[in-house]
Amino acid sequence: MEEYDIIIIGAGPAGLTAGIYAGREGLKSLVIEKKVKGGNANTAPVILNYPGYKSIPGLELLKKIAEQAEKYIEIRENEEITKIKKVDKKFNLTTNRNEYLTKSIIFCSGTTYRKIGVEGEEKFVGKGISYCSICDGMLFKERDVLVIGGGNSAAEHALHLKDIGVNVTLIHRRDELRAQKYLQDKLREEKIPILWNTVLKEIKGDMFVKSVVTLNRETGVEKEMDVNGIFIAVGEIPNSQIAKELGVEIDSLNYITTDKEQKTNMGGIYAAGDITGGVNQLVVACGEGAVAAVNAYGYVKRIELD
Ligand code: NAP
Repeated sequence: MEEYDIIIIGAGPAGLTAGIYAGREGLKSLVIEKKVKGGNANTAPVILNYPGYKSIPGLELLKKIAEQAEKYIEIRENEEITKIKKVDKKFNLTTNRNEYLTKSIIFCSGTTYRKIGVEGEEKFVGKGISYCSICDGMLFKERDVLVIGGGNSAAEHALHLKDIGVNVTLIHRRDELRAQKYLQDKLREEKIPILWNTVLKEIKGDMFVKSVVTLNRETGVEKEMDVNGIFIAVGEIPNSQIAKELGVEIDSLNYITTDKEQKTNMGGIYAAGDITGGVNQLVVACGEGAVAAVNAYGYVKRIELD
């Protein structure tokens, strides 16, 4: 059993920043990440609102943050927490590889891409369906692709795909986008076609996606369209199940509830980044990670005196 002062769950922007602070405070601390360093922000084609960089791809920015974090803290990738138990004043974490005891935990476990749940979606993931244009976009150069969704992510994916030479059409279930104005302006500028009030009813193909059946929700008209690929960007689901099982309070949308110190309802448990809901921005996640680590440090020092 390995013992720590602080264990940070998740190595996205919040977890990495919490790691920089926890490590620099001289606490025995560790970041555990179920996939790879960087989190969902790795998939952002370009980031235009992170102070200090006028424009930078998500992957590049997160690589820089991770390199900085690794100067101060160990990051273990591909390790998944399966259970957390409270044991007196400490917490016992079980992962697919190890057992840990820690005085404090910072949940930076982020969110998972939401699925649209139509027939064919599961079957064609990796065979024409993707949730990441930066990872898979080039496979569709000069081919016909749909982007599903009306938020910032869908708009950014559509713009990135257009930029790399993909024939892209956006499909949105309503008649207005929720993406920020500058992204909507850019979609217009780039003349990216948008199918309004439209949802997918079915995704068809054999080895790979070949076509989709769309439904116009206003007119009730169904159509079959030939496509080579589909990028889905319809929002996110918080990864809060393990926290909930431990007794951490979550809200009606499954985000972890925190106060201004990033403290949850349980002593020693903090949360930061997209897992707390609110303004999902990289700079906010980093800020919350810093706040959580500073306050977790205070907590660890207090219980050492008890
Ligand atoms: P989002 O803002 O929640 O938007 C999800 C979109 O998908 C909405 O337009 C929604 O339609 C649509 N949708 C949801 N379920 C659907 C379904 N089953 N079928 C079809 N459409 C469906 O999600 P996001 O764009 O992934 O962004 C997540 C968070 O990250 C947001 O807070 C966003 O601001 C932030 N973010 C920020 C940036 C940036 O600042 N540049 C970039 C990326 C993400 P309705 O509009 O009808 O609900």
